[in-house]
Amino acid sequence: MKNGVHTFRGSKHFRLNDVAEGVYAAIAIPGTGSLGNAAIVDLGDTTLVVDTFTTIQAAAEHLTGSPASYVINTHWHSDHTCGNQVFTPTAQIISTSITREIMDNFVRKRLAQQLEKPELIYQAIDDLEVKIQQETDKKLRMEMEWDNASDRQCMDMLPDLVYSVPTLTFDQHMTIHGSQRTVKLITYGGGHTQSDAFVYIPEGEIALMGDLVLSKHHPVMAYANPQQWLTILDEVEKLGVKTIYPGMGKYVH
Ligand SMILES: [Zn+2]
Repeated sequence: MKNGVHTFRGSKHFRLNDVAEGVYAAIAIPGTGSLGNAAIVDLGDTTLVVDTFTTIQAAAEHLTGSPASYVINTHWHSDHTCGNQVFTPTAQIISTSITREIMDNFVRKRLAQQLEKPELIYQAIDDLEVKIQQETDKKLRMEMEWDNASDRQCMDMLPDLVYSVPTLTFDQHMTIHGSQRTVKLITYGGGHTQSDAFVYIPEGEIALMGDLVLSKHHPVMAYANPQQWLTILDEVEKLGVKTIYPGMGKYVH
């Protein structure tokens, strides 16, 4: 990995930080429209991208000099999956089979409805804008602004979206053996959503957690199973993870 990393630090949507050798955190800059984090893992002869807000391909190519070979969607939420099309058909897009099922049915239909009647969503965005102006709690107000910026970006790009669902699925775990690095894709079921996967890198004992863990914030639980979420965290702890990279915010050692 000689090229790029010392000069390229991200884009207007994300900042690129080293987590460990060959592991790069693409930390979303809230308010610019990106919301969930992404990551890049250099496997040696191939590259893995973890979650896909829209502009990350540039980062992957810049860092490694080659396009990504694998993409994992940790869960179905749009701020982790809407950039998938950038990576097809070169990359295999991987998720749990439940996540793929949700994306291929529920999300695909919802996107089609939004495309058919975008004015309803834009109206909701405008309505939330009014509520944001009235909100007195600073933290809440900031988070509402981030959400609204992300929703607006999603709507703006919807006409160009070729919704791309995963091409490879797994139900428990999958291992990718690169020439320099091995990663394990693991699911213990659904905690943040109906099905959540995370990436474990044995070398360095690093876990890229998707939205199962957020920095300084409780995970969003709209589609969650709180009891199962706690069980998943117990299982992750047993792996002996030393560095956790969350779905939002910075990583912690
Ligand atoms: Zn999420």
